[in-house]
Parts: sequence; C-alpha cells; structure tokens
Amino acid sequence: MGKALIIGAGGVAGVCIHKCCQNSDVFEEICIASRTKSKCDAFKEKLDGGKTKITTAQVNADNVEELIALINDFKPDVVINLALPYQDLTIMDACLATKVNYVDTANYEPLDTAKFEYKWQWAYRERFEKAGITALLGSGFDPGVTGVFSAYAMKHEFDEINYIDILDCNAGDHGYPFATNFNPEINIREVSAKGSYIENGQWVETEPMEIKRVYNFPEIGEKDMYLLHHEELESLALNIKGIKRIRFFMTFGQSYLTHLKCLENVGMTSIDPIEFEGKQIVPLQFLKAVLPDPASLGPRTKGKTNIGCIFIGKKDGKDKTYYLYNVCDHEACYKEVGSQAVSYTTGVPAMIGAAMLLTGKWNKPGVHNIEEFDPDPFMDALNEFGLPWKESYNPDLVD
Ligand code: NDP
Repeated sequence: MGKALIIGAGGVAGVCIHKCCQNSDVFEEICIASRTKSKCDAFKEKLDGGKTKITTAQVNADNVEELIALINDFKPDVVINLALPYQDLTIMDACLATKVNYVDTANYEPLDTAKFEYKWQWAYRERFEKAGITALLGSGFDPGVTGVFSAYAMKHEFDEINYIDILDCNAGDHGYPFATNFNPEINIREVSAKGSYIENGQWVETEPMEIKRVYNFPEIGEKDMYLLHHEELESLALNIKGIKRIRFFMTFGQSYLTHLKCLENVGMTSIDPIEFEGKQIVPLQFLKAVLPDPASLGPRTKGKTNIGCIFIGKKDGKDKTYYLYNVCDHEACYKEVGSQAVSYTTGVPAMIGAAMLLTGKWNKPGVHNIEEFDPDPFMDALNEFGLPWKESYNPDLVD
C-alpha cells in the first residue's frame, strides 16, 4: 500500500520496524535511516526476506537539506520520526518541503532547555494544512495510546470527562541498580524536572517527585507512583470535553530514586556544559555514555508494564468511572521482537499511527494530536498488533 521512511535506529525504532514487517500489506517498503548506518543495516539483516522491502541510509536528522535529499530519493508516503525530540522540527521542515506526512512519538524539546511543550510544533499547523499533509504528533504509548484511550472513552462511554489520571507503571526488573528503559538523557530530563498537572484550565506546578501515591495495579500489585509533568496533559486538556483536572503518574522503585537523587546532588544530571580537560562536556550526556544502553536491557528484564487512564465523568446525567489499560510482559516482548516492553509499547503505536495515515483511515491535513482522530481503527489495531487493552467500570481511584 505504501512506503515509510523510519528515522532513528534505537530501541523504539527496532520494534516499529518489526511491526511494519508484520503489517506488510500496508508497509510494502521501508527505508531505515539514522546517524549510525550500521545499526540500520543490522535491522535489515535481521528482517530481510519477508514481504516488506527494506533499504537503509545514513542521515543526520539535524540537517534539513540532508533529510530533503533522502526523502526525494526514497519518496516515502510517510516519515516516522523515531530519533530524539531534538530532531522534530528539522524533520517537520523536510516533510513540509517535500509534502510528505509526518509521525512522531515525543514533542519537540530544545537541546538547551529541559522544557517540553507543543507550541513549537503547533506553530506548523497552517503550513501543513496548506501543503495538504498531516503531522500526527505523539503516536507512542504516553503520549499516544493514552490519547487514543481518551478519545475512545469520550466517543463511547461519556458525555463529558471531568477527571483523567494517566498511570504508567513499569514493574520490570533488569537487575541493574540503576538504568533507564529508554534514552537516558531524555528519561532523566523528564523525571528530574518539576512536576505539574492541569486543574480548572491552569497548570499547577510541584517540586520534582513531590506528590506520591500508592496504586494497586491490575496484574501487578501495589507500587509507589509519582506525579510528573507529561506532554499529553497539554493537548488532552484542550481536546477532551469537560476536563477539570488531568494528572500523570509514573512508578519508580526506591533504588532508581536513590541513585537519581545522588546523581543530581553531585551535578551529573545537569544539562549545562562544563569545562573538562580543555573540552566542553554536558554532564548528563557523559552520564548517558556510562549507563547501560537501554537496548541491552531486553534480555535481562522480567515483569510487566501496565499503562492506562482512569476517567471520571458523566453519562446520561449520571456519574461514571472507567479505566482503560494495557498490560505488557517484558519477556514476551523480548521473545517476539528482541526488545523490552518500554520500547515495545512505543514502537507498536508508532507503526499503527503511520498505518492509519498510509491506509487513509486518518486523513486530516494540518498538525494534530492523536486524540483528534477517530480512535476505533487504532483500538482494533492495538488488539491485532500486540497491545490488547482491558477495561474496568469499577477501578480503584487515585485520591
Ligand atoms: P534511542 O536513543 O534508543 O534511539 C534514538 C535513535 O535516534 C538512535 O538510533 C540515534 O542514533 C538516532 N539519532 C539521534 N540523533 C540523530 C540525528 N541527529 N540524526 C539521525 N539519527 C539520530 O531512543 P529510543 O528509541 O528509546 O527513543 C526514541 C524516541 O521515542 C525518543 O524521541 C523518545 O523520547 C520517544 N519515546 C516515546 C515514548 C512514548 O510513549 N511516547 C516512550 C519512550 C520513548 P545513534 O544510534 O547514532 O545514537
């Protein structure tokens, strides 16, 4: 049916590539392009021989001209950006110049400020609309499936949704005292930032990890979770009718938190460059270099993830509560595609989002967050491609 250019060859890209090959009726041809071409070639070697034709390329995604040349050469119908959030705008620029649809899983973040918000990407709305192309923002799990869950709840279960709590639990154990499950730099920037949530249309800011709750996750059990700022809060508060409060919680184990605090205290998580032996280095980037590569955690990680949303609102004038979630098993993911569940839960929705655009099931020129589209075909595809969802009408609530 179409051609996809996948940019990036890390943990999430690896899963997405596997899933494109499993969905070969839609993904007839893919090109894997990244900074380090040998990583793209390794994926090709592993998956070549199926129905999806695979090629590879080297690209510096910070360079718009290089991206344009690659797109003109391969002529994809969609570009799936699985590099880092820093590359979102250059890749969007290249898509605009070549009139190709765009998908990503994380919103733009400037390299020198750990602040993520949608304003930079939303500023492309008119230009994408005029060019007749669609940018689908945030097609991972959170953001991503959490937005699809919200659109589904709105469409089928509620007249208005007043409260959303997004709960992200990773109960996986990789056996290391400290490691991050996806890109360490992005992960640590996210969790060491101030927390925030939206109440009555206003952002309320908290100190990092200030708000803690214990939640009894289905199929996992009780875990400590902490309120974080998260990008989908911004778009969901605008796109879901009736929202009074929306919060995001993520679980962390005590060992992770103790190590993080210590690294923070000694200055290792700073993004301000320092002079070291005559060279400028960024402490957080140096830390990334000494931590385990998230891709290496796959064979070691045991346990499950549970990510979902609890909705409270009204249907036919009555109060209603509804919980939609997915449980994913690290070892089962590794057996299937050679990656742990955090990459899996992001890579599968990235493929599905691109498939929605390729098949024309979603077609809305402009720049859109995922909850702005019809959730039904995406929800069906989650069941088909390895992320089945479950629902409960009587969940435990978060106070
Ligand atoms: P990795 O660090 O494993 O992979 C990133 C890849 O991008 C690497 O292959 C890297 O190349 C490549 N890359 C980085 N900079 C450039 C550049 N300038 N030009 C070309 N390629 C580049 O990250 P993950 O796979 O863990 O994460 C990928 C994305 O997914 C991130 O944006 C992350 O924020 C997002 N994410 C989203 C989630 C969600 O639920 N929405 C959850 C988890 C992640 P090299 O191999 O040379 O380093």
